[in-house]
Amino acid sequence: MPEPVRFRGHHLLCMLSYQSQGYTPAFVARFDEAVEALNRGASLVLESGPDMLCETVLGEPDCHCHNASVRQRDALALHAVGQALGQTLAPGTSLSLTAEQVWQLRQGFADGSLRAACEGCQWARLCTRIARQQFPGVRLFPAAPASKK
Ligand code: SF4
Repeated sequence: MPEPVRFRGHHLLCMLSYQSQGYTPAFVARFDEAVEALNRGASLVLESGPDMLCETVLGEPDCHCHNASVRQRDALALHAVGQALGQTLAPGTSLSLTAEQVWQLRQGFADGSLRAACEGCQWARLCTRIARQQFPGVRLFPAAPASKK
């Protein structure tokens, strides 16, 4: 079994529309590794603050990983995703998502009910477009459940 993937709260949303685009090549390479691990059955462990993706950009001059606004984004995402999954999510929580749960979350992402955390994010228009197009080319759990085929 691969090592657990360590994500801060709002990266639970980012992984839903992730298409191998991101801040830097190193960030994208790390995100690719993370979703490939999830696709192979790795669990997710929730982090408080900068996570395994943030590690790749902490030295960038415009790094925002420690900003209060980003921590607020984490809190909003944990609340929304937790509500959708019917469980309380907090730093330290471990979860294993099924493909069906990922597509359930994508439905909430597409209808906007999960996306309070996305307000003000520089990628919001891209993520909205990906959702409107039914998530083409996304990297996490590329196989749709039977009901989506
Ligand atoms: S809009 Fe920003 S926070 Fe929301 S899923 Fe996209 S990249 Fe993540």
